[in-house]
Amino acid sequence: MSTQEGKEDDALLPFFPQPERGETVYSLISRYHLLSGHPSFRCSMRLISDRVGCQPAAEFPSFLGSLADKTGLPLGYLINEMTDVHYYQPFLAEDQYLSLIKALEAGQTEYSQTWLGSRANRIPLGRALQFCPECYEKDVEQLGFPVWHIEHQLPGTVSCVIHRLILHRINKNRKKACLPCFIAENLRKASSPNQDTISNLIADSFKNHDLRFDHQRLLNVYRHRLFSQGLLTTNGRIRQSKLRALLYSQLGDLQFSEIYRRLRELIVNKRYPDCLFYNPHSFHHPIKHLVLISALYKNWSSFVDLYRFGEIEIQQEEISRNTFPVQLSDQKENALRALKQGKSLRKAAEETGLSVRTVGVIAAKHNIPISLRPKKIYKNLERTIWRKLLIGASARVIAKSYELSTGAVELILSKHSYLVPLRARIRFFETRKKYRESLIIIRRKHPELRRTDIRKLNDAMYSWLFKHDKTWLYSHLPVSVPRRDRYKGDR
Ligand SMILES: [Zn+2]
Repeated sequence: MSTQEGKEDDALLPFFPQPERGETVYSLISRYHLLSGHPSFRCSMRLISDRVGCQPAAEFPSFLGSLADKTGLPLGYLINEMTDVHYYQPFLAEDQYLSLIKALEAGQTEYSQTWLGSRANRIPLGRALQFCPECYEKDVEQLGFPVWHIEHQLPGTVSCVIHRLILHRINKNRKKACLPCFIAENLRKASSPNQDTISNLIADSFKNHDLRFDHQRLLNVYRHRLFSQGLLTTNGRIRQSKLRALLYSQLGDLQFSEIYRRLRELIVNKRYPDCLFYNPHSFHHPIKHLVLISALYKNWSSFVDLYRFGEIEIQQEEISRNTFPVQLSDQKENALRALKQGKSLRKAAEETGLSVRTVGVIAAKHNIPISLRPKKIYKNLERTIWRKLLIGASARVIAKSYELSTGAVELILSKHSYLVPLRARIRFFETRKKYRESLIIIRRKHPELRRTDIRKLNDAMYSWLFKHDKTWLYSHLPVSVPRRDRYKGDR
């Protein structure tokens, strides 16, 4: 046997617990440590990661790659199901999101953490772990042990949305493994409606992360609501001081959390929410959007419905021209020309090879109004599109083949609510078929591969089947050799 293979098997931990649904990475390694009998948490951490001084309870741990290697758990599962990447997803451009995922895979997370959290936004990183006393009891009863829930750790979450209790907080400590503990009933505190509103909204945005916001449309949706609440002047300017007062009072009973104390300071210094409107193209921490959405809409679904399907036509507030670079590249000049000729964002993007988002930025900076009203669709075309939606075709692909905006196709989708779960089922079965087939092909072509090799060969496939089709996956993987025997064989 080659040294390479021997090394890999040596690296496998002799045992490791299975993750529970919605559990964090830190929760899993804490349970591992408490079961292991190792003298210190450091000993356990050293077996998981070669890096010295890593923070086990970090929002984005730097050791996910080696954790996957040493436990056989799919790396994609650790990232997608056991960290809060999806909290950030709707607010990041596709390339930003992909580089976050790459950084997590490679363990280069310090930069992402700074970039997503504190540097550009001055939002404090979470210093505490949070849990709900009643979820603790439920977990102990159902699982036999407590776990840390991802939903409770999402930045800005203050209460449990199921039990309507304020979450208890324990400071993160890199030297200790700990799990939630029993809290006496007289120490449990009910949450206020305002605290539940923001926690519910954050939980819903985390669950519905398939959206990716277009900055321009997002701002227009905000402005649409500001208008109906009398927070826009007659010439379309935002009544900033009134809006600040609204947000300030919204944060009133949330101040025990450092993230909201910081937001209140930013409001007082007139940096928030102004930054969202006047510097819309830099990345703002999701909590800044979520607090504004919570103040304006109260819940996630009414905001998202308007974002997805609403007919929004609000003129862009004038943006200072001197923020625009003097020198435009040829591509940008061409895009500007196309926009001035009245072409759509999509068309201008196609012609110049720029992204729709970039062309949107150019339009905004040159005050070229963009209509977001979906193109009128004739009845017979609507029927054809409905038929395609019914068999599960993607809205984006349909939109492209009929030269429509995705919004226009989504509008048809929204008229037939039964299509949504149906399409989800079709997609599920298609994905399952695709991944099952690729596993069968791998097994046929390379019968010698072990479970860990197969996972490395196609982590996306392995992760998906692990999450959704575990019984089938395990019945089609090579037989797992007991780790102790593998270890001896390789020596
Ligand atoms: Zn709870």
